[in-house]
Amino acid sequence: MFNLENRVAVVTGASRGIGRAIAVALARQGAYVAVNYATNAAAAEETLAAMRAAGGDGELLGFDVSDSAAVNDAIDGLYARKKAVHIAVANAGVAYDGLLLRMRDEDLARTFATNVNGALYLARATVRLMMKAKWGRFLAVSSVVGQTGNAGQTAYAASKSALEGAARSIAREYASRGITANVIAPGFVDTDMTAGIPEAARAKILEGVPLGRLGRPDDVAAAAVYLASDEAGYVTGQVLNVNGGLYV
Ligand code: NAP
Repeated sequence: MFNLENRVAVVTGASRGIGRAIAVALARQGAYVAVNYATNAAAAEETLAAMRAAGGDGELLGFDVSDSAAVNDAIDGLYARKKAVHIAVANAGVAYDGLLLRMRDEDLARTFATNVNGALYLARATVRLMMKAKWGRFLAVSSVVGQTGNAGQTAYAASKSALEGAARSIAREYASRGITANVIAPGFVDTDMTAGIPEAARAKILEGVPLGRLGRPDDVAAAAVYLASDEAGYVTGQVLNVNGGLYV
C-alpha cells in the first residue's frame, strides 16, 4: 500500500518542519523527491540526508515560490532531468501575525505572495507535466485557522482559506486527466513556525485539542503519503484535517 516507486515529487518548503517530514515520508515510500527551500540550503541538505537514510533519494531544488519565473525554471529543470513530475506539494508558508488594524500592506502582500501565489505557481508549472503522465497529485498545506479564523492571523487565515478554493477548482478542472487536488489542514504542529508561541498560549491551545497533544510533522506527512498514493485516486477537492480534533 502507498507505494510511490517511479513517482517524481516536489515539496516546497522542505528544508524544515512539516515540509521536511513530507519529503522524507514520500521518499521512504519510493518517490524521487525534489527538496525545495528558500534560503536554508544547509537545512535542505539535512532533509536529503534523512531521505537517503530512509532508503529514498532526491535532489535539492532551491527557489523562491513567490517568483513565478524561478518556479517555472526549477520545475522545467526537474522535468528535464527526471522526465516526469507526478506529485507536487505546496507546503512553503509564512505567517506575519498581528491585529487587523495594525496590518501592514507589505505583510499582507508577502503572505499572499508565498502562501497563495507560490502554491498556484507550483500548480500551474506541475499540472501540465502531470497531464503528460495522465496521472498527478497536487497537495496544498493550509491550516486549521483557514477554517476557524484566528484573532491576530487575518492575513494568514485568508491565505489558507484561499488554498481550499484553489484546490477545489483544480480538482474539477483536471479530474478527467487523472489528476487530483487536495488540501491538508494541520492544527498546531511543533515546528519553527510555532516555536515562538509562549508557554501559556501553548497550554491554552492544548486545552482545545481533544487528542491532548500538539501535532507532529509526521502526523501531517502520513496524510500527504496517502493523498499522493494510487489508493487515494478517488479522493479529490477535499480538505483532510490533521488537527487532533481541534476543529471537527
Ligand atoms: P517552518 O518550520 O517555518 O518552515 C517553513 C518552510 O517554508 C521552510 O522550509 C522555508 O524555507 C520555506 N519557505 C518559506 N518561504 C518560502 C519561499 N518564499 N519559497 C520557498 N520556500 C519557502 O514551517 P512549518 O511549520 O513546517 O509549516 C509548513 C506549512 O504548514 C506552512 O504552509 C504553514 O503555514 C503550514 N502550517 C503549519 C502549522 C504549524 O503549526 N506549524 C499549522 C498549520 C499549517 P527556508 O528553510 O529556506 O527558510
